[in-house]
Amino acid sequence: AKMEGRGTWRFFEPSMDASLQRRRAIELDLREAMAKDEFSLYYQPLYDLHLDRICGFEALLRWHHPKRGMVPPDQFIPIAEEIGLIGPLGEWVLHRACEQAVTWPGEMKLAVNVSAAQFRDSGFIDIIADALAASQLSPRRLELEITESVFLANSAETLATLHKLKAQGLRIALDDFGTGYSSLSYLRSFPFDKLKIDKSFVRDATATHGSKSIVRAVISLGRSLGMTTIAEGIETVEQLNHMRAEGCNEAQGFLFSHPVPVTEIAAKILELRNG
Ligand code: C2E
Ligand code: CA
Ligand code: CA
Ligand code: CA
Repeated sequence: AKMEGRGTWRFFEPSMDASLQRRRAIELDLREAMAKDEFSLYYQPLYDLHLDRICGFEALLRWHHPKRGMVPPDQFIPIAEEIGLIGPLGEWVLHRACEQAVTWPGEMKLAVNVSAAQFRDSGFIDIIADALAASQLSPRRLELEITESVFLANSAETLATLHKLKAQGLRIALDDFGTGYSSLSYLRSFPFDKLKIDKSFVRDATATHGSKSIVRAVISLGRSLGMTTIAEGIETVEQLNHMRAEGCNEAQGFLFSHPVPVTEIAAKILELRNG
């Protein structure tokens, strides 16, 4: 360890694990990335299997690091959560995504990922209301994707937040469904509109019997609870046909399109207008 001026300690020990060093470096850069305008949103089409056409986009955060190149969200979002940066970052995502989506054709939905820490923040309801008001996006076009990790905290508060959000007119989807640790009982009491079947089940649904059964059960569970279902991670025609045959409402995946920058939205809408 080396003493820098003003009592600041910096640790550059050779013994320090390379991945820990990388983490520390990312952490430092992350704190400045927003001011340096290094973030952007990519959008991946959501496809309606019944209408057989594109019905919206999911916003996916991208960090263009000046030296590291594109840093994947799985590598920086958990750090942003830990160092308390997910609040401002998530707020930026919401504002930017709503602003961009308001120019799309009116029937296109916008799905935005919300991390548990962001969701639990007492100001979250107002942040949503502000983003909608500032952009003039209709709340009916906004869908928030949350994961089962929100249930780790106080469930009475979670329930109250969900109700307040829904009172604003937007929809809530449960992301990565089936990969969490919670019991199924919360599905009864929490007002989700949509279940997003995790790509790990989608990948195996055409191969292993277990995954096939899980997909079938989730779709039927969703239907009986009045929730729609979307299958993520569709990469092959076989997977697509399988999800369609099982009665899944929507699909998303590389087969339709990779996430694209906002400049390619219009072209994607034309391309996927009818499949
Ligand atoms: P997610 O919400 O489950 O998003 C789906 C991920 O699967 C995306 O990765 C997407 O690019 C990828 N994907 C889409 N289609 C396919 C496919 O056919 N095959 C495969 N193998 N992958 C596919 P991405 O963009 O790297 O995002 C990773 C995760 O980072 C997201 O998972 C989400 O949890 C988180 N994330 C991304 N943007 C945001 C954000 O704005 N806020 C928050 N809180 N989390 C975000
Ligand atoms: Ca998602
Ligand atoms: Ca997911
Ligand atoms: Ca995920």
